[in-house]
Amino acid sequence: MSAQSFSHAIPIENPRMLINGKLVESESGRRFESIDPANEEVLGSVPEGSAKDIAAAVEAAEAAQPAWAALPVPERARYMRKLADALKEQSQRILVTEVIDTGNTIAKMRGDVQIAYDQLYYYAGLGYEIKGDTIPATPENLHITVREPYGVVGRIIPFNHPLMFAAAKMAAPLMAGNTIVEKPSEQSPFSACILAEICADILPPGVVNIVTGMGREAGDALVRHPRVKRLAFIGSVPTGMMIQRTAAEVAVKNVTLELGGKNPMIVFPDADLEKAIPAAINGMNFAWQGQSCGSTSRLFLHADIYDRFLNDLVGRIAKMKIGEPLSDDSDMGPINNKGQYQKVLHYIEAGKADGGRLMTGGKRPTGEAFKKGYWIEPTVFADMKPDMRLAREEVFGPVLSVFRWTDIDDTLRIANELEFGLSGSVWTRDISAAIRTARRIQSGYIWINGVGAHYAATPFGGYKNSGTGREEALDDLLSYTEEKAINIML
Ligand code: NAD
Repeated sequence: MSAQSFSHAIPIENPRMLINGKLVESESGRRFESIDPANEEVLGSVPEGSAKDIAAAVEAAEAAQPAWAALPVPERARYMRKLADALKEQSQRILVTEVIDTGNTIAKMRGDVQIAYDQLYYYAGLGYEIKGDTIPATPENLHITVREPYGVVGRIIPFNHPLMFAAAKMAAPLMAGNTIVEKPSEQSPFSACILAEICADILPPGVVNIVTGMGREAGDALVRHPRVKRLAFIGSVPTGMMIQRTAAEVAVKNVTLELGGKNPMIVFPDADLEKAIPAAINGMNFAWQGQSCGSTSRLFLHADIYDRFLNDLVGRIAKMKIGEPLSDDSDMGPINNKGQYQKVLHYIEAGKADGGRLMTGGKRPTGEAFKKGYWIEPTVFADMKPDMRLAREEVFGPVLSVFRWTDIDDTLRIANELEFGLSGSVWTRDISAAIRTARRIQSGYIWINGVGAHYAATPFGGYKNSGTGREEALDDLLSYTEEKAINIML
């Protein structure tokens, strides 16, 4: 690791928003800065979109929507594939921008453009599945359903995988014949401006609009806009709940939410530890500093293997290389932003105060290079008890809580008693125990002898306060349509 502080430049000149096919400044002329999490220096600025910009974007999206929806399926699919191909062509520039702006490490972030590419191709191929039914309601007549787009869809994006979420998640609403207004996170906005350039080149004006700005102004205006009936949000539980409340003040809206998690990984005594130990590390997503909704941040180890597993795990985590996010050698970079950094530190202090056993990490790494920036070592607390704050609340950071268990009923009660229910992981060679346990975890996405990965066409989403709705599968595409019944009297 370098003795000097890190030095970065974003490969994008004059980042702007996209409204009605044009790359523009905010009508207010305001811009806001994005900070390099590795050194706390200003990386550059982007337009600070206002409520008026959102209104202009919705108007453009509304004007473009009928012609977009009228395109034959193969035509819309061709646009999706063109977008995907253009992302691939610019993948190196996007990757460097994304890594610098987020602090996520380059080796694992290479997958993000590929995921966006694959999802765009996947939904391009699903266009003919937007179909209705025939219903034998009365024998003498014909009863059918057709699916129609909502019109303008609003999408709000979090900071952890900005490009992947902004690009991949366009595919379903667009294929379903909607147009989009997207609001990226103010914490890592640059890659969305590259996406804006790509969309400006490829799509008819107004089909995709990207308004960078603050949640409290641009995000709020999008949620409140009376002509945006379908909203899709990825972010934290409190913001998701606020969005549901705000939307309901204005109109009856269809809001889907992909929210936080505090996901259990339960390891039985017969598990294959050669695989389970590295999986417990992979499941924490240290490559993006644990800032992943699906991170398995509560590790339940059976008492018979507790000490052996824990010692090996802690030994490996303590050796992880923290440093330059652009270096292929780095296992972990800095936390994305100051607020998030302070939140992580707060939970580390809470873990200590509540009696968790700090096994490794918990502090800023030593060395000149880490004096500035949002750096924290990967952290493990053992001997966690279910009532501790660190054991119950989402940190969204590189902090793993380890619990000892003996009774599976009790363990599942603890695993399920939180407000979250996003993912879960079960490790055992006993197939019956594995399936029984998977069925009993109250979460939307479960791995048996696996962790972390999302699989194509497999619906992802949360139970309880982790969200509502499913993405990444056929359900997602259909969720951007309204169903209309037509009764034909013959
Ligand atoms: P956040 O809720 O703070 O912000 C997300 C987005 O909402 C940002 O674009 C922000 O500007 C916007 N926003 C904030 N206030 C708003 C308001 N009043 N009206 C409209 N928009 C508003 O979340 P974050 O810190 O960016 O991301 C971290 C959270 O996201 C974690 O809880 C994580 O678990 C969750 N997440 C969930 C998934 C999933 O698929 N379930 C994926 C990634 C992240």
